[in-house]
Amino acid sequence: MISVSKNRKPRILDSDNCLERIRLNVIREEFEGTYYKHRDVLQALEGIYHGKCGYCESIIRPVATPQVDHFRPKSKVKEALNHPGYYWLGHEWSNLILACPACNNAKSSHFPINGSRAVMPPLLPDGNLDTNRCLPDCSPLRDEEPELIHPEVEDTTNHFRFSPNGSIEGITRRGAATIETCKLNRRSFDLFRKRIIDDDLALANLLYVSYIEGLIVQEQLSSLLKLWLNKIVNKCKPQVEYSLFQCYALKHFDKFYINQLPTESQRSEMQKVYEAVFGA
Ligand SMILES: [Zn+2]
Repeated sequence: MISVSKNRKPRILDSDNCLERIRLNVIREEFEGTYYKHRDVLQALEGIYHGKCGYCESIIRPVATPQVDHFRPKSKVKEALNHPGYYWLGHEWSNLILACPACNNAKSSHFPINGSRAVMPPLLPDGNLDTNRCLPDCSPLRDEEPELIHPEVEDTTNHFRFSPNGSIEGITRRGAATIETCKLNRRSFDLFRKRIIDDDLALANLLYVSYIEGLIVQEQLSSLLKLWLNKIVNKCKPQVEYSLFQCYALKHFDKFYINQLPTESQRSEMQKVYEAVFGA
């Protein structure tokens, strides 16, 4: 999960038809409608989330169809069975997150909180929703103290850590709750993430073996390892799959890379290259 900033609210969500739908939902105190998953909404979300699931960071297409998840569930809340769900937020732009089918399914209508459960705020005198009170970083939604991390509201890097074997765990209680709720610790993710590191190490090892066998000279080895390192830096870009993991691995370069190299001379060479690129 990486932080994203949302902009470009699709016009369909401000269309007369959608606003009328919201008005009826508010009166009936239940959610109906499909504007939230209109193709314009989906397209905008795919741009903002770089085509990746807002929770697990998998690139969704072409292996699955992206879905629009309601951060606050629109129809019911598993942790509060007497709550009608956040029906007034069903078409609220800040409540819509791009998700893969697996995360959307795992998260389902879960929405654990630590504070007090929000109900629909009083309507304005003209009968419309007070949209300022529908934003996740404003009261009353902020006062719920959600257990789940909202990728558009907070810095996700403070909540998760990884191991070279690809496993993820929460640094914070809320990070752990997000992992548990969305099942971000699925075994397949561990394997994917581990393979990223393994592939990088295999390439570094191949370069080193080429040097040992006299196919390249020392200067070439250093230059190629710098290119190799820059390739890893590029994988930290938000549009790359599992970029939070890639950034974490780069930040903990000793643990994820240097310490995993098989010989002391390789570790020493890699340390020199790292210092040449980033400074000691
Ligand atoms: Zn996902």
